[in-house]
Amino acid sequence: MSTKVAVVSGSNKGIGLAIVRALCKQFKGDVYLTSRDVGRGEEAVKALNSEGLKPKFHQLDINDLNSIKTAAAYFKEKYGGVDILINNAGIAFKASDPTPFGVQAEVILKTNFLATRDMSTHFLPLVRAGGRVVNVSSMIGASGLKQCSPELQQRFRSEDITEDELVVLMQRFVSEAKKGEHIQRGWPDMAYAVSKIGVTVLSMIHARRLSKERPNDGVLVNACCPGWVRTDIAAPGAPKSPDEGAITPVYLALLPPGAVEPNGKYVSDKEVQPW
Ligand code: NDP
Repeated sequence: MSTKVAVVSGSNKGIGLAIVRALCKQFKGDVYLTSRDVGRGEEAVKALNSEGLKPKFHQLDINDLNSIKTAAAYFKEKYGGVDILINNAGIAFKASDPTPFGVQAEVILKTNFLATRDMSTHFLPLVRAGGRVVNVSSMIGASGLKQCSPELQQRFRSEDITEDELVVLMQRFVSEAKKGEHIQRGWPDMAYAVSKIGVTVLSMIHARRLSKERPNDGVLVNACCPGWVRTDIAAPGAPKSPDEGAITPVYLALLPPGAVEPNGKYVSDKEVQPW
């Protein structure tokens, strides 16, 4: 039987690093810590080595299509596929950052939504039968959804929204944010929230698509919120440690063989949440 393999994006620090730590302890297979910066990635591998854990490493910058394609080709060649994919890499601006809102919107949507989508485009075809895909979203996306216009909420909750329509909506948000028109067009005033709405809806679309195209493969795709976690993205007063933030993503990644749910859901504290 081929060696099983798990890949975690953005795992040189924060929740991603904690996910790799937990998978090294709980997953029977190779676990890849990935980082856009090789130096930071190797330092993180060393830190886990000092805890007696043995993650492997591959460079992965989700904003760089060549990096995504190189990594995907590597996993295809070396393992013949991927068993666990955790799209964790993400960014946010500090509340005090003076960067204009339209620029923040473009930069945040590029990494959190478009690059996560690029990862899915190149890695989903590699996910083997029984595979688990976890997209790290946020409760801020769930609360942002409630602030969208009724028309946008209807689309983001609909079962027939396509990936193309979602991409167009996300691009529309950026262009309206740049013109300062996003609020009057029915969007929340938070680019991070919109990016995470995109991540959650994308997960739901991919789950529906895989269930239709590969009905016998039992691949489960879910979005989750790790909770409010003390990392460089969040304030130091956040209640959860990174290891606690890793619990729900790792739970979804290790849903037992034969499980049929949750699939295409938004999950927090190991519970499916309303969307
Ligand atoms: P951190 O800032 O600690 O970690 C973010 C990670 O993503 C880093 O490893 C960073 O790498 C990486 N990253 C950023 N851009 C890219 C890129 N283009 N390619 C590859 N890696 C990249 O934040 P968290 O650990 O808190 O965040 C992890 C995820 O959890 C994010 O998706 C975030 O939105 C989500 N989240 C976090 C919450 C919290 O309270 N902390 C709450 C809800 C969701 P580098 O070191 O090179 O910058």
